[in-house]
Amino acid sequence: MAEMKTYAGACHCGQVQYEAQTDLAQVVSCNCSICSKRGLLLTFVPPEQFKPVAGVDSQKLYQFNKKVIDHLFCPTCGVESYGTGKGPDGKQMYAINVRCLDGVDVSTLTPMPFNGRDR
Ligand SMILES: [Zn+2]
Repeated sequence: MAEMKTYAGACHCGQVQYEAQTDLAQVVSCNCSICSKRGLLLTFVPPEQFKPVAGVDSQKLYQFNKKVIDHLFCPTCGVESYGTGKGPDGKQMYAINVRCLDGVDVSTLTPMPFNGRDR
């Protein structure tokens, strides 16, 4: 059983830093247009489990399609270390790019395919 841990997340250059609490029980590999191009592996956490540490306000915003998700990326290195948006229930959610978390071996994860392309 996966345990809840606090992970340090950051973009490549380190300008953007945050902490995310997650058990990594649900990691999603989405086939939508942006996830497939960016190679995102995502896990979703509520705001209580997300703590900005540095540089989050310096990020660039990218939106497309219905513009309901804020895709944020570092203006220096271009890495999207997380995104944010509202879930189906209207609650704010953070989509954490698992590849940007320290100490996570992505080869040990079994990402769940998510059919974002057809939504
Ligand atoms: Zn960066």
